Amino acid sequence: MTFEPTLEFAAHLDAQDPLRLFRSRFHIPLTPEGQEAVYFCGNSLGLQPRTARAAAEEQFASWEKRAVEGHFLGNDPWMHYHETLAEATGRVVGAKPLEVVVMNNLTVNLHLLLLTFYRPTATRYKVLMEGGAFPSDQYALESQVTLHGLDPNDAIVELVPRPGEHTLRTEDIEATIRELGDSLATIILGGINYYTGQVFDMAAITRAGHAVGATVGFDLAHAAGNIELHLHDWDVDFACWCSYKYLNSGPGGTSGVFVHERFAHSPELPRLAGWWGHDASERFQMKKGFRPMPGAAGWQLSNSQVFPMALHRAALAVVDEAGGIPALRQKSELLTAYLEFLIKRLNLPASRLEIITPTDPAQRGCQLSILVHEGGRALFDHLVAAGIIGDWREPNVIRLAPVPLYNSFQDVQRVGQVLADWAGV
Ligand SMILES: *Cc1c(COP(=O)(O)O)cnc(C)c1O
Repeated sequence: MTFEPTLEFAAHLDAQDPLRLFRSRFHIPLTPEGQEAVYFCGNSLGLQPRTARAAAEEQFASWEKRAVEGHFLGNDPWMHYHETLAEATGRVVGAKPLEVVVMNNLTVNLHLLLLTFYRPTATRYKVLMEGGAFPSDQYALESQVTLHGLDPNDAIVELVPRPGEHTLRTEDIEATIRELGDSLATIILGGINYYTGQVFDMAAITRAGHAVGATVGFDLAHAAGNIELHLHDWDVDFACWCSYKYLNSGPGGTSGVFVHERFAHSPELPRLAGWWGHDASERFQMKKGFRPMPGAAGWQLSNSQVFPMALHRAALAVVDEAGGIPALRQKSELLTAYLEFLIKRLNLPASRLEIITPTDPAQRGCQLSILVHEGGRALFDHLVAAGIIGDWREPNVIRLAPVPLYNSFQDVQRVGQVLADWAGV
């Protein structure tokens, strides 16, 4: 497609957009002047679906009317609430309902999964992760390794880009995996790197990891709801993600977990246990001896957090109604390509401003990360003053994420116009 920078052109793209009506299904935040903001921060906290409040109200009503009986009565008894999320969750990540469960928060789930899938021995104990991974993931891995009596400096191997490059090459990741060979216990990468927006080749990395006998997992915080995922077909061992970024389920929202079907009937797999992971048919017999449920459900500890789950369910319903991730992705590629076009059009030298997110649409999701060598913070503040909400990452990166469910081509055009005025183009 040949893009044009004009408002007319953007309006034309919006008119042709099959998802254009979905914007009205969300609350768009306003600027102090009362204008709709350009919200490009769905990679940090997705917007509120207009159906979210009613979904929570329904649970308030059930609690109000039925109290403890709400576990067993009403449209969606709380006893089984988590089960009602499995189908829609499976569609988002390319998994069978048996392979997924919604529970806890992301970092908690990362720990629970690592306790099962990172089982270091005297010779096979290394963990491979991204250099500069999201801090929570770094802390999680550091503490896991320490918990096993190992030295993080020795056990954790970090992947870094080649000198002069900003993103990782798949062939370099594969080569490192081969080099680590028998010493590699587990690979844990983001499906998308939160800083650069790079999508990793999860199928290739999983193959390479399995070839040397390692377990392979992904933190999909920036991938779930953003790009197409095929966790089952890619043969990924385990994964987890949050629901409040591209899945619009509210601050601190509940998290999703994937455990491959291969492990669905392996009660002997070590794990931390709780009553909600216990075989449902005898959960209330309160007997001694943990017997896990088949599948990912067998990693649950506590009874369902119904309120965050109700918000999540409402948000997942909007994704399904829009035609699922493939439909979102189709628009997303165009939205992000339009933003890229408008930034490249500024014609600024890389010494001033450069996009560090890959150019190849297959290697990125919604987000573009813009490295501003000087005056980055001032540019970010300038965007905020113009009603554009992106996010700032120290020391010099602005992340902008146009989200297909609620952002328009006119939003992108407005950002392009503000940038053009700033650059004096
Ligand atoms: C957003 C994000 C988190 C946040 O973790 P919580 O446990 O939900 O607070 C962790 N890791 C990555 C990669 C993230 O992008």
